This record gives sequence, structure tokens and C-alpha cells, in this order.
Amino acid sequence: MKNLENNKLTAVFMGYELQKDPTERFFGKYKTPITNVWVDEKELSFDTDWNLIMDVVEMIEEIDVVASFQIENPTIYIWKSSEDSNFEDIEIDIFTKTKKEAVVEAINQFISWYNKNNTATPKEPGLNTLVCKECGGNNIQGKEWRYVHSGKFAGDSSNDDDDNWCDDCEAHIEFVTIDEYLQTIGG
Ligand SMILES: [Zn+2]
Repeated sequence: MKNLENNKLTAVFMGYELQKDPTERFFGKYKTPITNVWVDEKELSFDTDWNLIMDVVEMIEEIDVVASFQIENPTIYIWKSSEDSNFEDIEIDIFTKTKKEAVVEAINQFISWYNKNNTATPKEPGLNTLVCKECGGNNIQGKEWRYVHSGKFAGDSSNDDDDNWCDDCEAHIEFVTIDEYLQTIGG
């Protein structure tokens, strides 16, 4: 049986965009990231489609608080990444349900925790946010290292100016913090 509410929460967690404007053609539908396809909420299949379920598992593993999402008999685990983390391990046994149901239950518990603990604090740009040294803009790109297989972030590239790019200046320009930028313009 599909669980509409959990599917909707999972879609948002996965970066799907809900059209909230009633005057728009796709009002009430969800737009998939990257492929930009509009999906009706009843077509969301995060509880039935293994391909989608595994995308969610991988997304959860990308989040700092999680060390791994372990799918095995007889227990599905989401382990926290460290003892300091305020995330509590999730354990779902599969004695009374299928493995798929147990994985989906673990996902739902995680997203419920995540929505309470992570999205409650919208990110305001702090004074340590990096900006372009010339224009102060944040439309900037920097080279970085990634693990080839997991895609996980492994570190910044060197501090070479060539590795920094400002889209607005269309040039390789050093990044500074907002605080430093405000000082250079006498703010
Ligand atoms: Zn710039």
C-alpha cells in the first residue's frame, strides 16, 4: 500500500520541487531534479520502486550525521557517523515485514528526524561565507576533490587562483570571506 504523505516528504527530501502556484499548469505536481519532469503526487513511488529507494539510501548516506545505511538480515540499520552526533541510530527488524518495507520504514524515520533537526534552521549567509574578492558576489565556483565511486567531497583543490571562478566577473578571482570583503570596501 502506498503511503502518500511519506512519499511527498521523501520527494521534497530528494530535491523534488512542489509547484505551489495555483495559476500554474503543473500546480500540485512535483518536478524531478535534473530531468525536470512533472510527477503527480500519486505517481511518487519512493515506497515501491527499488531504484528510487536506493537513490534515497545513497542521499541519506551523503548526510554528515550518517556513517552508513546497512541493509541486511535480520535488521536494517542507519548508523550515526560519530558518538558526538545527536542523531540516534535507527534499527528496523524485518521479522514481520519484507526487506523493502523495512528499508522504507528506516527512510521514513530518518526523514522525520532530518526534518525536525536539520531544516528547522534555514541557512543565513554568515560572515565566513566565501565571496568573489572583486565584486563580492556569491556566484562563484571552486575546484574540489571527490571520491570517484561515492562522489563524496574529499577536499578543496589548492588555493591557486586558477581554481577559483566568478561567474559575474567571468574571471579567475580569489575568494575572500564576506567579512574580509566588507573590510576591503571600507564597510
Ligand atoms: Zn566577481
